[in-house]
Amino acid sequence: MLNKKENQQWLGKRKITVVANWKMNLNYDEEVKLASEIKESLLSLSTVEIVLCPSFLSIPKIKEIFSKTAVKIGAQDVFYENCGAFTGGISVKMLEPFCDYVIIGHSERRRYFKETDEEVNKKVKAALQSKIMPIICVGEDLEAWRRGDIDTVIDQVRKAVKGIDQDQITKILIAYEPVWAIGSGNPATAEYANKICLQIRQLLESFYSRDLAMKIRILYGGSVNIENASEFIAQSEIDGLLVGGLSLKAKEFILLVKNINKIK
Ligand code: PEP
Repeated sequence: MLNKKENQQWLGKRKITVVANWKMNLNYDEEVKLASEIKESLLSLSTVEIVLCPSFLSIPKIKEIFSKTAVKIGAQDVFYENCGAFTGGISVKMLEPFCDYVIIGHSERRRYFKETDEEVNKKVKAALQSKIMPIICVGEDLEAWRRGDIDTVIDQVRKAVKGIDQDQITKILIAYEPVWAIGSGNPATAEYANKICLQIRQLLESFYSRDLAMKIRILYGGSVNIENASEFIAQSEIDGLLVGGLSLKAKEFILLVKNINKIK
């Protein structure tokens, strides 16, 4: 049986997605500057799908900067209610005019904002009521990794997709991000990441079908850099990357995308 990469190559449509998570690192002017620098150098590239996730405040402006390009815009979070007395909340409705994607359940949200699997599931369902595609982040912490325990990851996926039917499941993306690899300079090996992505895909296959599971994009994130990016992309089950720190440096981010573009 063909693996995900072979299957896509056979179909002639391997699609790589690179998501840039700018987190809470830059102010408005700095985000606009970074976006403008990226735009200048990336216009001629179209084979890699680029998703930029700035802070909420800059989203409309960054959307405008990339208006005539293939670059997509994502939010870093969303609340699951559509409107009402939820001070500080940002809803899917508010994001919809600007965003194609939204990151949900990033480990930093789980850790600092105490987000639960149940909330992640509600947010995913809220996004699926719109055209915004949820990028669901899952990953084990250092202790679980040391124990060789990936049940946490599989359980996070199971809970995130609970109640999502087969008409909608291919609209989600999963980002496998081992918590210990995020921002640590200590990435997972490409083989290990691929093994976990395969297990995630097998879980989705058991819930839905092989055909649908093969259509779901699974990304890797955690200390991706220019040197290791191509190793991850070369793996059979990895459909793209979620990049944090490196995406804040225009030149390096552009180089990473260009390198991936070449090896595709
Ligand atoms: C992330 O923000 O999800 C991430 C993977 O960060 P970094 O690339 O800096 O490890």
